[in-house]
Amino acid sequence: MLFTDKCLYWLGNNAPEATLFEQVGVVGTVEDLPDIWGGILCINLDVPEEQNQTLTAMFNHPKFWSWSTYVVHSNPYSDCLIDGIFNEQTAFEHWQNTKVKLSKLPELEKIEPLVGWLGINRQRRVRPVKLLDSLSIYRYPIIEVLYPELNSSYRFILAEAKREILENDILIDRIRVCKQCNSGHLNYVEVCPSCKSIDIDVQTSLHCFTCGHVGDQQSFLRKGKLECPKCITQLRHIGVDYDRPLETHICHKCSHLFVEAETISQCLSCEAQTEIAELIVQKIYQLKLGQLGEYVYQHGKMLQAPELSIKGKVDAGYFENILLWLNKVALRHDEEHLLLSMHLPGLEKYSNLYGDNKLFALLDQITNRLNGLFRDTDICCQYKQDLLLVLMPKTKISTMPVLQSKIEKLSQLIEDDLFTLHVSAFKIPDPRINDGIKVWLAETVGNIYAAR
Ligand SMILES: [Zn+2]
Ligand SMILES: [Zn+2]
Ligand SMILES: [Zn+2]
Repeated sequence: MLFTDKCLYWLGNNAPEATLFEQVGVVGTVEDLPDIWGGILCINLDVPEEQNQTLTAMFNHPKFWSWSTYVVHSNPYSDCLIDGIFNEQTAFEHWQNTKVKLSKLPELEKIEPLVGWLGINRQRRVRPVKLLDSLSIYRYPIIEVLYPELNSSYRFILAEAKREILENDILIDRIRVCKQCNSGHLNYVEVCPSCKSIDIDVQTSLHCFTCGHVGDQQSFLRKGKLECPKCITQLRHIGVDYDRPLETHICHKCSHLFVEAETISQCLSCEAQTEIAELIVQKIYQLKLGQLGEYVYQHGKMLQAPELSIKGKVDAGYFENILLWLNKVALRHDEEHLLLSMHLPGLEKYSNLYGDNKLFALLDQITNRLNGLFRDTDICCQYKQDLLLVLMPKTKISTMPVLQSKIEKLSQLIEDDLFTLHVSAFKIPDPRINDGIKVWLAETVGNIYAAR
């Protein structure tokens, strides 16, 4: 049988006879599918895991975003990747529409798979799925299959929504995750506000007016009467002889009596104890193609590359002010700080060569590794698209060799031969900064670029 692009491909059991389609091509594995744009496939496998693995394998195929995909049995994971349950009539119509859209797109090879996938079928959404065996609880299968190198599909979603490649569609859930390991598996537990022990109980206490003793109600019971265990006064009338204090909890570790227990979160994945207010709140959205995504879909080019999401990152204006201020402080008090520059030449070339999904995966890796390198007090600024500035207070320029070797090790870990990182360091204070921060930075940045 000659397989064509007018064929419905069928993987799995009970392939139907062709009625609307020219023919039905039954395939045994993903490898048997032809290398064409805009095909249509239906999967009919009984085991959900097998179906999910098959779908994942399909999306590795660079042209597969342009295919229409159906299943016979749905499951929550595959629902995020497919176009619906197979029904020949509707599948045929959708597939025809998709083919018309594809025919209007110039240079299919250059389209970002995610943008293309969302663009050719406007019912498609980037959907989250709740997976309890996963650390983050919610995952975005379509992102994971199209960008397998990513560390976190959530961070990708955030960045792409921020620059409007994607747009929030429906809020699905709001969860809290551990600030240390990003796990969503948290246990909320009441603790003693004084010593943070979990060994606390509710206790009804009495307060003797005669001697001021406060204790468990049980300890006041003597032969069916209430009597203070300390001063042996009989307690007859509440409000006159005694009352019940507001403190209704007791800590068995430090004996503290208190009104309200404190609630903290214990991470079930990394054991970190965190106050509730410090947990990271994640809004889990279903997303659709955003404004920039629409532009990229229509014109096939990127306006800007994604930004690095490094902790403590500030914008350029703020960074300039802080640098100027720190420079003055340093001059007055004879202190020494360090300004580090990291230049990533060839980001644009990289993107042209490998496409934006690879570039994003690379930036994601860089972000991850840099975040481990800097201290909370270091101030980062993505001063130019390919230039990071880091202000490291109270760091002497003499520590530069140590830092340099750390950064070199880090860049070696990044699994890409084309990736290069040039590091330079500048000692703060520099009296010339006071004459004009913008001019000084422009000169410095100019020198960094000129050096390469
Ligand atoms: Zn306690
Ligand atoms: Zn008493
Ligand atoms: Zn954790």
